[in-house]
Amino acid sequence: MNDVTAVELDLEATFGAIPDCVLITNPDNQLVYANRSAEAALGYSRSELDGLDAADIFADPDDHKRFYMPSGSRSVGTAPRTQVLMKRKSGEAFSAEIVNASLVNTGGTNLGSLILARDISDRLSAEMAAREAAQTLEDAMEAISEGFALYDKDDRLIIFNEKYREIYEQSANALIPGRTFEEIVAYGLSQNQYNTGDKSQGDWLAERVRRHQAADGALVEQNLADGRWLQISEHRTRSGGIAGIRTDITALKQAQAATRAAYASLETLANSLSCSIVEADRDGICKFVNRIAAEWFATSPEQLKGTRIRERLPKAYLDSSITQFEKALGGESSTMEINMLFPDGMTRDVLLEYIPKYNEFNEIEGVITYAVDITERKTTERTLAELYAITSTRELGQDEKINLIVRLGCEHFGLPFGIISHVIEDRYTVVRAESPNGEIQVGEQYDLGETFCAKTLQSDSAFAVSHTAESELASHPCARKFPLQAYIGAPLLVDGEVYGTINFSGPEPRRREFSPTDCEIIRQFADWVGHEIARHRDHEALMEAKIRMERIASIDDLTGIMNRRAFLERASTEVARFRRTRRPFTTIMMDVDHFKTINDTYGHAVGDEVLKQFAALVNGALRAVDVFGRVGGEEFCLLLHNTTIEDGLLVADRIRAKIANSCSVAPVEWDVTCSMGLTTIEDGDVDISALLQRADNALYRAKEEGRNRCVIYSRQKDLATI
Ligand code: GH3
Ligand code: MG
Ligand code: MG
Repeated sequence: MNDVTAVELDLEATFGAIPDCVLITNPDNQLVYANRSAEAALGYSRSELDGLDAADIFADPDDHKRFYMPSGSRSVGTAPRTQVLMKRKSGEAFSAEIVNASLVNTGGTNLGSLILARDISDRLSAEMAAREAAQTLEDAMEAISEGFALYDKDDRLIIFNEKYREIYEQSANALIPGRTFEEIVAYGLSQNQYNTGDKSQGDWLAERVRRHQAADGALVEQNLADGRWLQISEHRTRSGGIAGIRTDITALKQAQAATRAAYASLETLANSLSCSIVEADRDGICKFVNRIAAEWFATSPEQLKGTRIRERLPKAYLDSSITQFEKALGGESSTMEINMLFPDGMTRDVLLEYIPKYNEFNEIEGVITYAVDITERKTTERTLAELYAITSTRELGQDEKINLIVRLGCEHFGLPFGIISHVIEDRYTVVRAESPNGEIQVGEQYDLGETFCAKTLQSDSAFAVSHTAESELASHPCARKFPLQAYIGAPLLVDGEVYGTINFSGPEPRRREFSPTDCEIIRQFADWVGHEIARHRDHEALMEAKIRMERIASIDDLTGIMNRRAFLERASTEVARFRRTRRPFTTIMMDVDHFKTINDTYGHAVGDEVLKQFAALVNGALRAVDVFGRVGGEEFCLLLHNTTIEDGLLVADRIRAKIANSCSVAPVEWDVTCSMGLTTIEDGDVDISALLQRADNALYRAKEEGRNRCVIYSRQKDLATI
């Protein structure tokens, strides 16, 4: 035993402090030595271990036999390591790595075995955890739909998922752990993996590597050569590597592009409409305006957005605008008409329509206002109403009506000059003119060729040009001679014949182009004026005929002076004038002396000749205001205008003397004389008959008293005669 003790002491000195378990058995498999580590690992005290069957320290009792096969040739140094499950005193199993060796003395006798065991349960569980973690990471990597790649701090690929390989299909051959990021991307470039746009491959690669190494988590978009779009997000890991995620955003980009295209085409549509469109939110703040709306307000859509358009309307419309807006917010569309001067300098009639704007949840989120320029329709309505009023009134003469129409045309077309011309051959004569400062005068004449009306007459219909300088008329003689930039004209036809033109013009180009309606309007004007001129011509012809007829009816055929009917009519006027003015006139009845004898002696024709000469001599002695007529066969009557009886007698006697001296008709051999009876108008005279009666009485006296004399009516004598 001493030997044994000595051996034990030696063993303890050799193995006592070794961190691994050291166990020695005898040939009967009983433990004869265990060091302190074995004591601790197995949970037995050394005395308990001493003599313990080695099978008891293995979870599987057969295990130890496998190691314990005596094989006299092996030594400790070459023994294989084996992993087994050992068993603690508590029955708990633990993993251990063991090395065993048979102890054989020099004589070849089996002395037992040496077992070196290391508790590796901690290491194993750590390895297990690491394996599990790796597995979990791998599972997670494959489970995500994004491409994932991890690079180490030297920017070499560590791992990547299948999706990453799918995304970068052309680069797949280079996706080998250990390759650097730059090598992989450069390979991809060589395989036409990327769309480098207008950059050279070198620049593109440098930029890509720079962004990658920034690894700042910023979202970067990448376009592949096949059109796909990726979104890349790269982060620095705690160990200094770079983790990157690729998301395929092709569908998103396409949807975005489609939305942008749809929006752009809507905007194009809105901008190409001739109405103004404004979209406002519930507070009335403008969200969208089209080009026309911005033009009307002489600004840009950007300037209008974010403001309240209603505040740009005249105050008078503010309340009703708010009312319409509120209605639309309540779901009801409505319209209103306004007339205002817009900031672009144009006055417009505008029809506003307020329409609720619904969002995708069918809630009213604002109001869309459409505004249509109805100026032309309104102006046309007003002009036609005015034209009707002018042409249908009975209170205006034709001249006034035509002047008003020319003025109406100036207003309608917004042009300062209005002309009606009469064109004969190549001569253009202004017959009506409207101009602010009398620039154009009636009677002015031009060569037709130097007026735009030459074009109008050629056109056979209306002719209009809104901006001469930018039209075919830029080099027209009229454009050179007159500074006219806007012109509209129509031919005037009278009874189917060209009479001239009606035209309107101005020195400024028209901001609103002449429309077909404008041409229709000027043709209406031309039609009406043409008819009026024709009517005027007819009227004049009629009046002339009437005057001729009246003349014929009132003239004595033989003598050419007034006949009895006409004389009596004029005489009544004289009586009426006296009753108005109290100015007296003298009435003289005349009768040729012994006229019967002339007739009888020389014949009726000579008598007629005497009557003609008599009338001519008397007529020649009168003023224009005196009234002289043949009231009977050879009886004449004369009214001396504004003449007292005394003056009347002087005049009468002078005429009598003139007849006596000058009235001689061959072959009458004696002097023709005449007798006259005079009277003056009296207060009691209501008509001419009383005067004629008195003058006739006085004439009778003149005959009685010897003829060739003048006698004033005397009431006394008259009474005496009776
Ligand atoms: P007294 O001096 O008294 O007037 O005499 P007298 O011959 O002139 O008489 P009275 O006045 O009665 O004569 C009128 C005559 O005039 C009668 C008629 O034959 C004639 N007479 C009437 N009209 C015409 C006419 O148009 N031509 C001609 N030649 N004679 C006419
Ligand atoms: Mg007589
Ligand atoms: Mg007589």
